[in-house]
Amino acid sequence: MNLQLSAAQEAFRDEVRGFLEQKMTQALRAGTRATPTVFAEPDIGLEWQHILNQRGWLAYTWPREYGGTGWSPMQRYIFEKECALADAPRLSLLGLKLLAPVVYTFGTPEQKSHYLPRVLSAEHYWCQGFSETGAGSDLAGLRTRAERSNDGYLINGGKIWTTHAHFATHMFCLARTDSTVKPQRGISFLLLDMRDPGVTVRPIHGLAGDHEVNEVFLKNVTVPRESLIGEEGQGWTIAKFLLENERGGSCFAPRLLADIATLQANPDLQRNTTLAHRVAKAELEAQALEITELRILAQMERGEQPGPQTSLVKLIASTLRQQIDSIAVQVLGYAGLQLTGARPLYGEHCPEAELTKDSQIAMPRYLNSQAWTIFGGSNEIQRSIIAKTVLQL
Ligand SMILES: Cc1cc2nc3c(=O)[nH]c(=O)nc-3n(C[C@H](O)[C@H](O)[C@H](O)COP(=O)(O)OP(=O)(O)OC[C@H]3O[C@@H](n4cnc5c(N)ncnc54)[C@H](O)[C@@H]3O)c2cc1C
Repeated sequence: MNLQLSAAQEAFRDEVRGFLEQKMTQALRAGTRATPTVFAEPDIGLEWQHILNQRGWLAYTWPREYGGTGWSPMQRYIFEKECALADAPRLSLLGLKLLAPVVYTFGTPEQKSHYLPRVLSAEHYWCQGFSETGAGSDLAGLRTRAERSNDGYLINGGKIWTTHAHFATHMFCLARTDSTVKPQRGISFLLLDMRDPGVTVRPIHGLAGDHEVNEVFLKNVTVPRESLIGEEGQGWTIAKFLLENERGGSCFAPRLLADIATLQANPDLQRNTTLAHRVAKAELEAQALEITELRILAQMERGEQPGPQTSLVKLIASTLRQQIDSIAVQVLGYAGLQLTGARPLYGEHCPEAELTKDSQIAMPRYLNSQAWTIFGGSNEIQRSIIAKTVLQL
């Protein structure tokens, strides 16, 4: 694969760079640098989403007929990389990169025309209701039920670890519509409105004190028949399609490399050869990850699903994320040990940082990064997938 940018690709990169220079305000940059969680909160995330939508660059992973840009894999990568270098907010992927491909692949024409524009405009802000107590890695064991009612389904059960459910207007979820068949066959993919009676959201605070995930209780929630995506019982197939996109459609390396560059610019790192060596090793691994991600994008361009390689990407990216965030704390010494409970860590209400702003962010980032090897399928689960499907063990 030729990684040397062509003249046209350089021109595209300059166009993206120019756009970012013009549109990325200081407040947005500062907000991204001070976000210790996976996704930006809606105050900065949605501001950035609207800017990208106006430019027509929001749905760059979608097919052109639904509002995509028609960019080549390399252009997508260049865009991701420039966004990482410019500290652009990390948008919630749940509607844009997880639900939308499901809707345009499995949805009816009515579902496509109803949901896709609302994902772009952010009129709908989505959360993902897959995991349940006792059904995380073993997702097929989920117990939330959706029973046929007169004109739709009656949902009862509960979801856990639901990222941004407290901001969401809608949830896509898996529910059991048939308990008489093999567990995987009895699951369906349904959409629901978080404002419906019977939906209750309870916060879960993470290690660092952030409120990013929730528990969601569903008690006699009624949804219309049109809320079903695909066929009844097709939920497991759709979930596998979505999880492959979740694990592999994203480009992790650009942000990892940008964070490594920030670490390398720290003069304290130059004085600590052990840490400098660990950063250099992480950089090499992130560069190798970058090549793998480009290969997957090229595959997707040819219309092939990414497949089990996405497990490899998720495994390596998560491990690197934790290593980098751990080194960041160590480089800062005592200053890196501070943990303020205030949120957000940007804006006028944020308390003064002890020493530098970096030191205020390092510990919450490090603590939150522990979740990377759990969400979207834990490292153990990714290794099992690789063992079975790639190594044929
Ligand atoms: C920050 C965060 C955000 C999340 N956001 C969402 C969200 O928005 N929506 C959503 O639906 N879910 C979300 N999740 C849930 C996430 O997908 C699950 O936590 C994950 O799938 C693991 O499931 P579990 O927590 O039930 O752990 P378990 O499945 O109980 O696993 C516990 C431990 O056992 C290991 N283990 C389990 N089974 C096996 C096996 N077969 N072989 C080897 N080891 C095994 C696991 O690797 C893990 O170490 C989120 C989780 C986190 C931490």
